Amino acid sequence: MNRKEELSQNLELVRSKIATVADHEVTLIAVTKTFPVSDAQILHELGVRDFGENRDSEGAEKSAMVEGVWHFQGQIQSNKLKSITSWASVIHSLDDPRHFEIIERVAPHALQIFLQVSLDGAHHRGGAGLEDLYSLAAVVEKSKTHTLAGLMSVPPVEMDPNQGFAQLAVIHNEFMKLFPGATSLSAGMSGDYETAISHGATHVRVGSSILGSR
Ligand SMILES: *Cc1c(COP(=O)(O)O)cnc(C)c1O
Repeated sequence: MNRKEELSQNLELVRSKIATVADHEVTLIAVTKTFPVSDAQILHELGVRDFGENRDSEGAEKSAMVEGVWHFQGQIQSNKLKSITSWASVIHSLDDPRHFEIIERVAPHALQIFLQVSLDGAHHRGGAGLEDLYSLAAVVEKSKTHTLAGLMSVPPVEMDPNQGFAQLAVIHNEFMKLFPGATSLSAGMSGDYETAISHGATHVRVGSSILGSR
């Protein structure tokens, strides 16, 4: 089997699993991190238009060669924001108002912003605690340029995904009472995207189930 057949098969399986569980619209983001640009090109030929990257350098390189909506989902470093905002249209991992102030200054176009929420308060994998989430959201919502899309989370590895995404759904529903436009929920990776969708995820970020192990 060549690479295109392999990616095509994997992609079809993921798409059909999504269709089976989803009773709402779900955006599948193909996470191409660590994989070559040729894989992103093949996925584009297969109809993929949403791509996710964790690192600025990789995202800059691949997005220059493959058209689509490029999502940044990695940990944000202040000094990379000028570059990140030049190629990404969506940022999933904002957890610090200081980063948003920089985005306001340097971004050359309008961005969709997801706030990353930490479910355990330990912030190991990034994310704002609940105590900081609303003030962060208020800062983004005031922007004349950028849009507060919703929330994103990566449940801690030791947490049962079903419990984690249920908890996230509660947080998101409460959040939408104050920020009714923030209807998107970015949750779920290769191991747990079906569970995340059953708890209302509108955006899933899937890497290894489509591209293979890293
Ligand atoms: C790597 C990564 C993904 C994709 O992970 P897979 O397990 O390969 O699907 C999704 N979201 C974030 C934040 C990641 O770092």
